[in-house]
Amino acid sequence: MKLQSVRGTYDILPPESFIWEWIESKTRNLFNCFNYKEIKTPVFEVTELFNRTIGDCTDIVLKEMYTFQDKKGRSLTLRPEGTASVVRACLQHKLIQQNYINKLFYFGPMFRYERPQAGRQRQFHQTGIEIIGSSFPCADIEAILLLKAFFNELGLDDIKFRINTTGSRASRPMLNQALKEALEPNINNMCNDCILRFSRNVLRVYDCKVPSCKKIIQKLPAFAGILNADDQSHFDEVKAGLDALKIEYKVDPHLVRGLDYYTRTIFEVYTDKLGACDALAGGGRYDGLFEEMGSSEIIPAVGFAIGIERVINVLKNMKLLPSQPRHEIMVINFGGSAYLHSLKLTNRLRCSGYLVDFDLSGRSVKAQFRTAGREGFRFAIVMGEEEIIKQTVKLKDLFQQTEIELTEEQLVRFLHESIKK
Ligand code: AMP
Repeated sequence: MKLQSVRGTYDILPPESFIWEWIESKTRNLFNCFNYKEIKTPVFEVTELFNRTIGDCTDIVLKEMYTFQDKKGRSLTLRPEGTASVVRACLQHKLIQQNYINKLFYFGPMFRYERPQAGRQRQFHQTGIEIIGSSFPCADIEAILLLKAFFNELGLDDIKFRINTTGSRASRPMLNQALKEALEPNINNMCNDCILRFSRNVLRVYDCKVPSCKKIIQKLPAFAGILNADDQSHFDEVKAGLDALKIEYKVDPHLVRGLDYYTRTIFEVYTDKLGACDALAGGGRYDGLFEEMGSSEIIPAVGFAIGIERVINVLKNMKLLPSQPRHEIMVINFGGSAYLHSLKLTNRLRCSGYLVDFDLSGRSVKAQFRTAGREGFRFAIVMGEEEIIKQTVKLKDLFQQTEIELTEEQLVRFLHESIKK
């Protein structure tokens, strides 16, 4: 059997791996600027963590989790998203203190058993933030502002926000009731999944992809009008903040996220540059999650997750990907007794921060020059027997086709002046 990567997973190879390095470093710099600290949690957790937090009626829990038993028979699951693990870690390590806001970010692989297609993998990567401990609309606004800053930082200005509110836990019975009343006359025309959702968790009907169900769902009333006064004013304040910051958004009265823990504000970033899988990021408030996970206090929180593969696809479509910085210097390896001298010089230049390559294949000097030319190196340094005796090196400018002979100290000074590190 030919061994290959598993369906829905893929290898990140050079030169694409450079793009990942670039995005990761931009992300870290930006999140640091906003004073978020990185949290790294394990890629697998006990299954119950996700069943309890994401919701047992959601597609993720019902259909998409990579669940397995370990050798002791414990049920474990590869994380399908980041928030549940972050909340678990905060509670486990008692990161929550009164009047203190934890601002955390993560970056890493997530796993969902979905049907692979363009923009949808079974192993994909998300970066996300969580603002833990603030119930104020300004936290929702900061999350959305940071999300916008992320896309702007990568040169993507043409993204769109849709936002909605699903209300607090206090409003949920009213919302459920109103949705059920609106659906009831049509429930017999809906699919079996929707009939089950109707009785178990009516908000989940929004996950349905059956066209005839979608038609019925589109006619359901907007949530914002059904919620209590506190929820309405929270939503109004979030919108006012976004308006003040000139962040454009569209209120989508039917936006629902695929995870049960969201309360109040929810939002998504989308683009028209990707086709079917247009969502680049999503998030919202989750004021009840800590309590559901056993916290004795109510700990309000808000966060988002960005799909890195989709961001890379848009950058690719829009030709916004950076190219890898070129190695500029090739030290020609003459072998024999000259070899150690050139290796020492290579090491010295690398330690000074230059991008230097040194042949490891044992090929001829001519072949090494050919490679240096093909790969776009600007300089080649020659240090053969003759130069070693004279204690010099030859520096060839492969662009200008010129050559000068220098001492090692002169070489260092010359490179310092001609290459910007
Ligand atoms: P979610 O955790 O479902 O809110 O998703 C947040 C973001 O992760 C989405 O907007 C997508 O960009 C990305 N995403 C979710 N599922 C997948 C997947 N199976 N493959 C690639 N990206 C995904």
